[in-house]
This record gives sequence, structure tokens and C-alpha cells, in this order.
Amino acid sequence: MSIRLIFILFSFLAAVTGGIGVVGLALAHPLPVDSVKASCFAFGPADAGVANPGGVEWVCEPVGHGSVTGPVRILFDSGDLAAAAHATHFVSHVARFDTLSMAVRRGDTTKEVARYTLDDIDMFVNGPNFALPLPDLRGADALIVTVTKPWNRAIASDAMLEQAQNDGAMSLGRGRGSMLLMAFLCGLMLVPLIYNLAFYRVLRKMFIIWHSAAVISMLIYIKLASGLGNYFVTPNIHVLLFLYPFSFLTAAFLGTQFTVRFLEPGMLGPGMRRALVVTGWTTFAVLGTILLPLPLFRTVSLSMFSAGFLPLTFVYVAAMIQARRRGSRAVWFQIIGWTPLLLLGLERIAKGVGLSESQPWVGQLFFLTLAFEVLMTSLGVVDRFDILRRDHDQARSRLEMLSGLVDRDALTGIFNRRALEQKFAELRAEGFTGLAVVDLDFFKQVNDRFGHSAGDRVLQEVAKVLSSDDEALPFRMGGEEFVLLVRGNAMQERCERIRSAIPIRVANQMPGIDLVVTASMGLVDTPPGTRTSMRQLYAHADRLLYEAKNSGRNRMISERMQFFSAPGRTADRRNPQTSRGRRAEDNGPTGA
Ligand code: GH3
Ligand code: MG
Ligand code: MG
Repeated sequence: MSIRLIFILFSFLAAVTGGIGVVGLALAHPLPVDSVKASCFAFGPADAGVANPGGVEWVCEPVGHGSVTGPVRILFDSGDLAAAAHATHFVSHVARFDTLSMAVRRGDTTKEVARYTLDDIDMFVNGPNFALPLPDLRGADALIVTVTKPWNRAIASDAMLEQAQNDGAMSLGRGRGSMLLMAFLCGLMLVPLIYNLAFYRVLRKMFIIWHSAAVISMLIYIKLASGLGNYFVTPNIHVLLFLYPFSFLTAAFLGTQFTVRFLEPGMLGPGMRRALVVTGWTTFAVLGTILLPLPLFRTVSLSMFSAGFLPLTFVYVAAMIQARRRGSRAVWFQIIGWTPLLLLGLERIAKGVGLSESQPWVGQLFFLTLAFEVLMTSLGVVDRFDILRRDHDQARSRLEMLSGLVDRDALTGIFNRRALEQKFAELRAEGFTGLAVVDLDFFKQVNDRFGHSAGDRVLQEVAKVLSSDDEALPFRMGGEEFVLLVRGNAMQERCERIRSAIPIRVANQMPGIDLVVTASMGLVDTPPGTRTSMRQLYAHADRLLYEAKNSGRNRMISERMQFFSAPGRTADRRNPQTSRGRRAEDNGPTGA
């Protein structure tokens, strides 16, 4: 299927999601019609007694989500009980707690009739909700539910009395229309996963992997938060309570890691890139920690978990702005996809820290914006993939152009020294500003121990490793010495990756050679526009290679050269920020 068709399909799906979402929101009532919410709530004091909470102050208005210190009490008054005359279950939002007890008031006496701990909860219903059977409420004036050491006020604010239908648990919690909408969104999110798989088979770009991982986390989150997952497995309450917020955190984390790799090279400055990566990891580590069931975190966990997304949100927005300013095309998909989510996210944060009270349909809208974000980002992946594939094809035709003109090396099929000499200036003008000299370590031993033809095969494998980066062109200079012309971002890292892949490839392809075939490398990068010749660069890289050999082999030494046109001569100044020397220590011999 052509990229164009996939693009149209995704746009269509995005439009359909929007359409169905709007209709769905209008039609699908988030709660079953017969559910009755509690009238009043009370917080603290811990010693007020469960059965007879005299002296507590009742708040008869919604209390929102967020952290809470003391016990919470939930009051269904006689009006509520009359409205829920046929109710069979107490239903509420999942949250950690110590005990949940139900007391019934008849006249002047209030009597505790049931008491549960977290481990007693085994009935999970639609939404991130659990259910407990109700005691006999005939003739009761009030039902008072007391929850000690709750981790989230939602267990009070979302508390409801509901009547189970024939199909039991699955008729409780969120409304049926709402669940259908969620199932539709989950189905929709499978589409990009399938395409990603196809894309990755064609172009092995890391951002496709990160994108798939982010989509999978998002799917898990929607399944847990909507209660859809309960249709497939009955969760363990402890696992659910951790996984539910954790899947969201993971999706946000993977989303930022994806963005860093997805945007075109150079669209994020190195500082911004680092800020995004570091904030992403820090957020993941810190928030992941406060999700652990440690008593220490009980009263702050939820507020911190919500507010904890603010720094990442801030850096993310700044990164989007920077990429846009630098003319990124890919970032548009991110901006359009994320804006509704960020706006709702701010609402979520406000709700999480207890600043605002939200309506159930806002929760539904949140899922919708999640799905919209996934589709927009997928559209971005399709678009970016198309552009990359075109670049890839251009790179290939460039290679073909070269090979028509100049000689290739007979043994390895890559270009030879003459090709480098003839094409150096042209390739440099195309941005190949880096030059690396690669020489195998103690290669004579391979010939001596395994024969000359085994040595030849090793050279062929090495040429394959050197050809593995689209933006690096390999040349065989003679013997077991190669040159790589490199362009693009993260040159040092990429060259080092290629260099260190040599022993692995040789070991995998030629298991008979029980000797680690390593290589040393000298890499020089020069800013674009610097006037330099191939001989000059080559000589410089060769000196670095010589240093690498002398300091123990199996390493890379790299340098960024800066040329100044000083009066009368051209100076070569070593940039103090280079990784020279430091590299040599970082990558100590590993196998030689
Ligand atoms: P060093 O780590 O100092 O580079 O040690 P070395 O043994 O790799 O270096 P030296 O330059 O002394 O030896 C290079 C050897 O490479 C000598 C020759 O036997 C072998 N060689 C050169 N060209 C070919 C070739 O086309 N095929 C094979 N099999 N071996 C080759
Ligand atoms: Mg050698
Ligand atoms: Mg040599």
C-alpha cells in the first residue's frame, strides 16, 4: 500500500474518531442512569469512631479527587437511599486504603454491619471502579461508609449506589455506551501498531520502536482506566493500583523519548534535546517511585503525581516551540496532536491537586484526546517515514552515480582509494564533513592462524559493518585499512557504534574464528565550509588512529578541528571540548 493511501486512511480515522467522539460523548452517558451519588462527605478525625461518627463535620458538596490525610466518611442520607431503593452494590473509584466499613443508621442507633480490607476487593466493574455488596438497607435512615487511610479522595467523591443487572459486575460503574466508545478507541489504536511493524521492516528507525512502545502503554492505560481490561482478566487490586497510573506515566515518558528521535535532525538544539531526555527520565524515576505503596507517600502521592508532570510539560512545550522556529515539519503533527491533551492535562493536574472538580464526561474527553494524539502522531510517523524513504532512495542513487564513475574494491565491493580522491570535494559539499580512518587490530594474527582466505572474509564482513549507516560512506584504502566519510548528527556516537559492531559481526558471521577482531579508529570532524583537502584531513585522522593504536588499540579517538585563517597561515586549533583522550579512557579495551 502506498504511503499516500496510508496517510489518507489515518486522516480518515482521525476524522472518524473526532466525529464518533462528539456523537459518543453526547449519547453515551458516562454513568448508568440509576446510579446515586453520596450527598455528604467528612474528613478526619481518626478517633471519631466508625459506627457513630458524632462530631465530624459533613461537607454536602462534591469533594473532588486528590490526596487526603485522615479517614474519609461517605454519607448516603435517607433521600439517597430512597432514590437507590433497588441498589445492590456500593461502587467507587479504586484507591488504596486500610479498612472500609459500612454502618447503617436507624433512628438514633448507628451500627457497623460490614468491614473490608483492600485484599477483600475482588469485584472490578466498568471504569477504574470496584464494587462491594450492600448490606440490608430496609428501613435505614442513612448509610455511612468510613474509609481509613485512603490514598485518594476519589474513593469518596466517586462513591455510588447501583443496581446490578443480569450480567452482574459488567452492568456496574461506567455506562455501556461509554464502554463501547472506549473499545472503539482501543481498536483504533491497533492500526498504527500494525503499520509501524510494516514501516520498521523497511526502514529500521528507532523512533518507530519508541512510537509503538508509547502506543502500547497508552492502550494499557486506556484499558485499565476505562475498566475494559476487566473483561479480559480479573486484576489483582495491588497490581491494578500500581499499573493504572504507571501505564500513564510510561506512555508520557515514551512519548517524549519518541519525540526526541522523531523530529528531523537539528530541529532541537543539543541543550533542549538533553533537557527533554533528562526531564523525561527524571519524571519517570521520581513519579514511578511515589507510585510505590509506601506509607510515606500516602498523603502526597496523588498531588505529587499530578503536579510532577508540570516540568515535563513545560520542557515539552518549549521544545515544540524551538522545533517550530527552526522550521521543523514533523513538529506540526506533535503540536496538533498534543494541544488538546495538554489543555485537558492541565485540567487533570488541577483536579489531581484538588483545585478543580471535574465532570465524568471530562474523563471521557480525556480518553478521546489520547486517541486523537496517537492518531496525529501516527500521521506524523507516516509523513516522516515517507520523507526518510525518499532520502534513503536519494542516498542509494548517489551511490549508484558514484559507482558508475569510479572503481570499487574487488574484494569487498565498497569504494576504493581512487573513488575517495576523486569524489572527496563533491561529497564534502554534500555535508560529509567527518572523516574516520579505521584499521583492524593485529590483523596479521587472523591470517597467520586461520589463513588468508579467512582474513579475506573478515574484511568483507568489516565492509558490511562499515556500510550499515546511511549517512556514512565507506572506502577501502588498502589492506585492512578503511576510511568512512560521515555526515549528520551525533557523529562520534555513530562512528563508535560502527567501530564496536565490528567484533560482534565477525564473531557472529565467522564462529570458527576464536579471536576477537577489533578495530581502532581516528575521527576528525570539521565545521562545514572549512577549507581543507582530503590529504590534510586524512593525515590528521591517521595521526589520531596512530594515537589510538599506541594507547592500547580497540578504541576511537576523535577530534573536532577548527581552522582559523590567521594572517599568512592556516592554524589548526584543537577544540578543548573534544572527546579526545576522554574517549580513549571511556572505551577501554574490551576484547583484544
Ligand atoms: P595493528 O594493530 O598494528 O594494525 O596490527 P596489524 O597486524 O593489523 O597490522 P599490520 O599492518 O602489521 O598487518 C596488516 C596485515 O593485513 C598484513 C597482511 O597480512 C594483512 N592484509 C593486508 N591486505 C589483506 C588482504 O587483502 N587480505 C588478507 N587476508 N589480509 C590482508
Ligand atoms: Mg592493522
Ligand atoms: Mg594497517
